[in-house]
Formats: sequence, C-alpha cells, structure tokens
Amino acid sequence: MKAIVDREACIGCGVCVQVCEAVFELDGDSIAVVKANPVPADQEAACKEAAQSCPTEAIKLQ
Ligand code: SF4
Repeated sequence: MKAIVDREACIGCGVCVQVCEAVFELDGDSIAVVKANPVPADQEAACKEAAQSCPTEAIKLQ
C-alpha cells in the first residue's frame, strides 16, 4: 500500500502524525509528507485510520 498526501488539501493539523507517526511527518512548511512508502505492513491499519481521520481528506491510499 502507498500513501499520498495532497499538499493543496493538507492544512497541517498534524492528526495523521499523531495517529501514524511511522508514516507521516510535517515538513518545514507544516504540510504532511509520507516518509515510508510503501507503507510497512504493520502500519497499514494505522495509516488507514490516519486517512480516515484527516479533516480535509488529503490522504489517498493506493
Ligand atoms: Fe494534513 Fe490531513 Fe495530516 Fe492534517 S491529517 S496534517 S490535513 S494530511
């Protein structure tokens, strides 16, 4: 599974980082970036939860 963040949609709230720190981090512009692609198998559930928790639906999973 791969995760993609829509930088235009991300508002930098940090929820995804809190939910799945192994995959998401905020960059210098306070926009979420994916630091683990493909998503490690043991992080897939947390990554899906992060995508569902994103207030702007900026996280797409493939
Ligand atoms: Fe951006 Fe969504 Fe992550 Fe918030 S939860 S930092 S809006 S990708």
